[in-house]
Amino acid sequence: MSSNERTFRELGLSEYLLRSLDELGYEKPTPIQSASIDPLMAGKDIIGQAQTGTGKTGAFALPLLNKIDMKINAPQILVLAPTRELAVQVAEAFGSYAKHMKGFHVLPIYGGQSMQQQLNALKRGPQVIVGTPGRVMDHMRRGTLKLDTLKALVLDEADEMLKMGFIDDIEWVLEHKPANSQLALFSATMPEQIKRVANKHLNSPVNISIAASHTTVESIDQRFVQVSQHNKLEALVRVLEVENTEGIIIFVRTRNSCVELAEKLEARGYASSPLHGDMNQQARERAVEQLKRGKLDILIATDVAARGLDVERIGHVVNYDIPYDSEAYVHRIGRTGRAGRKGMAILFVTNREMRMLRTIERATNSRISPMKVPSPETVAERRLSRLGEQIQETLNGDLDFMKNAVAELCQQLEVDTDLLAAALLQQVQQERPLQLPTITERQRDSRDDRGDRNSDRPRRERSNRPAPTSFGSADTLKDNPDVKMNRYVIDVGRENGVGVGNIVGAIANEANIDSRFIGQIQLFDQVTTVDLPDGMPKDILSHLKKVRVCGRPLNIREAGDEVFADSGRGAPRKPRGDRPRGDRPAGAERRPRKPRDNG
Ligand code: AMP
Repeated sequence: MSSNERTFRELGLSEYLLRSLDELGYEKPTPIQSASIDPLMAGKDIIGQAQTGTGKTGAFALPLLNKIDMKINAPQILVLAPTRELAVQVAEAFGSYAKHMKGFHVLPIYGGQSMQQQLNALKRGPQVIVGTPGRVMDHMRRGTLKLDTLKALVLDEADEMLKMGFIDDIEWVLEHKPANSQLALFSATMPEQIKRVANKHLNSPVNISIAASHTTVESIDQRFVQVSQHNKLEALVRVLEVENTEGIIIFVRTRNSCVELAEKLEARGYASSPLHGDMNQQARERAVEQLKRGKLDILIATDVAARGLDVERIGHVVNYDIPYDSEAYVHRIGRTGRAGRKGMAILFVTNREMRMLRTIERATNSRISPMKVPSPETVAERRLSRLGEQIQETLNGDLDFMKNAVAELCQQLEVDTDLLAAALLQQVQQERPLQLPTITERQRDSRDDRGDRNSDRPRRERSNRPAPTSFGSADTLKDNPDVKMNRYVIDVGRENGVGVGNIVGAIANEANIDSRFIGQIQLFDQVTTVDLPDGMPKDILSHLKKVRVCGRPLNIREAGDEVFADSGRGAPRKPRGDRPRGDRPAGAERRPRKPRDNG
């Protein structure tokens, strides 16, 4: 798709929406947005084949918000989403786009949330409802959610809803929507059952899929780092420290993230500058010139601003935010590997974006190999050795005056030279400390990246901590010591592409548990452990056994004294011992129970 040149204004969105988009720092519509906004505004049905990360939420939210009648306080748009997490994210996106629409109200509804609370909220007349199919159907049956005023219904991630067993509920809801309302169906894949629903319910739909540009990329070493949204900054800093980099260009999605990241890197001592579409031509040229001359090492750019950028010095391209399609990817990484040099492209992907990564690989006919975030030890070693090099240079100079100052300080402080040297080193390290926090520690401390709607449940995700070695056992709920927890194992793990959000969503929806009562979750290659309140009813557990996530039945069971050794990113260890394999997760080993794992 290349008709991606029209601006949001040219697409005819209202001033209210344009204002929010400007504040969010969106520079231009993504390809799926360019393609969907017109037909949806024109009242047509659409089928969009698009994955997370393509900007698909905006693709339906923006044109549909444009049609809302603010005088009517009743549901006008209904979005069905597979999980609580997605429902909340989509509702948040609606809220941020509609920020300047006075009296606008969006409500997420999902299982596990108090019914009374939802009833009260529904009475306030939200114009947009985003809900999981089961709970939406519940409200419709009770008569607490009426669709008479509905203008449009969206099925978001239809294939995921199918996997989670919601297909009958979806059909039921579709059968009860007003005949003249619009329908938009978004799905990353189009399995038969989804096609059948589409054929039955969509009215001469416009088909939208983002055509992959098949381009082979040579001379660029392509890597990806799997990292959750809120750990990206720490991961980036480590990569920057360890890679032997010359000029670097880091791509982000919005003007706001561009400015923010430049500030954060500057604060950490990196010579960097933003490069975005709102900077005037002169400022942009200055930034590029400084990169060329080596006065700057890092440019943080949006796609719009980096168009046509040709700097030989760029040895690395970092895709801090995943591009919207493979065409943008090829364009971005083409900024390196210039003039016959070898370049490196590093792509940061969150769990939910893994599918997008595979699409890019297919479209570019290339392999993007996994890369680990450098460990704190590696970074510390690198910092120490660089410090050594700097000190070496200083040692070559005249130090007589300083030697006297050292002697005087030692006397004044009554310390020996070793201790004084250590104290001075402590002062010198400043923004490049030699003792790094682990990513998990930072995660507990830092709240700055929370709330990003792309994040994969930051409070639970532990993607970069060392691989756990034992299931251990659950204790009590962190925020509520009165709730005793039990540890369960489910048969879906990292290798199936599952994210913490999928698991929380499935369990919260299917077992009707408030997600506050879902405790620690640890992802392993083939299985995952989940802490749930002790004494879960048998019928709920047997229902959960059959629930499918990422195409696999959860087969939930108590972790008991099963012990599991994860392989980090490689293949899990083969099971050993006397029990048949089916009794424990693949890759599990039977070993004596370890003392409590409080991780
Ligand atoms: P989605 O594919 O809907 O999950 O969106 C992925 C991310 O892209 C979200 O963080 C959005 O805020 C962001 N996004 C969506 N549309 C745009 C745009 N036109 N420009 C910049 N960022 C966008």
